[in-house]
Amino acid sequence: MPSLEEERARLVERLESMGIIRSERAKRAALSVRRELFIPQKLRRYAYRDTPLPIGHGQTISAPHMVFMMNELLDLGEGMLVFEVGAGSGYHAATVAEMVSPRGRVITTEIVVPLAKFAWENLRRAGYHDRVSVVACDGSKGLKLRERPERILVTAAAPRVPRPLVEMLEDGGKMVIPVGDSLFFAQKLVLIERTGSRIVERVITDVAFVPLRGEWGFR
Ligand code: SAH
Repeated sequence: MPSLEEERARLVERLESMGIIRSERAKRAALSVRRELFIPQKLRRYAYRDTPLPIGHGQTISAPHMVFMMNELLDLGEGMLVFEVGAGSGYHAATVAEMVSPRGRVITTEIVVPLAKFAWENLRRAGYHDRVSVVACDGSKGLKLRERPERILVTAAAPRVPRPLVEMLEDGGKMVIPVGDSLFFAQKLVLIERTGSRIVERVITDVAFVPLRGEWGFR
């Protein structure tokens, strides 16, 4: 039986050969974040299957290919401030933290309080407590921060692009968000770029995410 570390290395090779992982930053993050630390104990042996896995409360940790497709679309760089809606397990936030290391920061939000705790515990155990903050709140409304985030990542499907998130984005910033129906398989992954007041939206591909809740979600 290969070790989890060997399985992780194989998955990274596969994601590279598929063209999902393209940058050195993404490769380093995929190799260093231990996905097994972000899932329920009894599912650990499935940590490196490229599928979503249940994390309780009807929610899932995204498949690794989706995590890295979104991270590469965001073109993450050293020192960036990144805002996430949907902490879930905290895994995605940890990969982003690696990609903006050493000076970058991630602020992630989670509307289900026990999951915010789960994410925080996982991030702490995996050693990301100094670079990632978890806030238990409705992230669809955005959050007042001292600085505007240069990147925004939404990991639940929204009925439409939440205006407060676009308004929060730094000039020249980018956001990725699944938009569409709350029924699975009816959503598009959208990349949004803001230049001054000019907002450009590009549809990337079809995706299947759990629904966004809260003010700008499916209530
Ligand atoms: N990024 C996660 C995947 C999470 S699934 C990971 O790496 O594991 C989407 C998450 O979004 C769920 O945990 C859900 O509870 C959360 N969510 C849904 N609506 C939200 C909202 N309005 N604000 C914050 N979190 C929300």
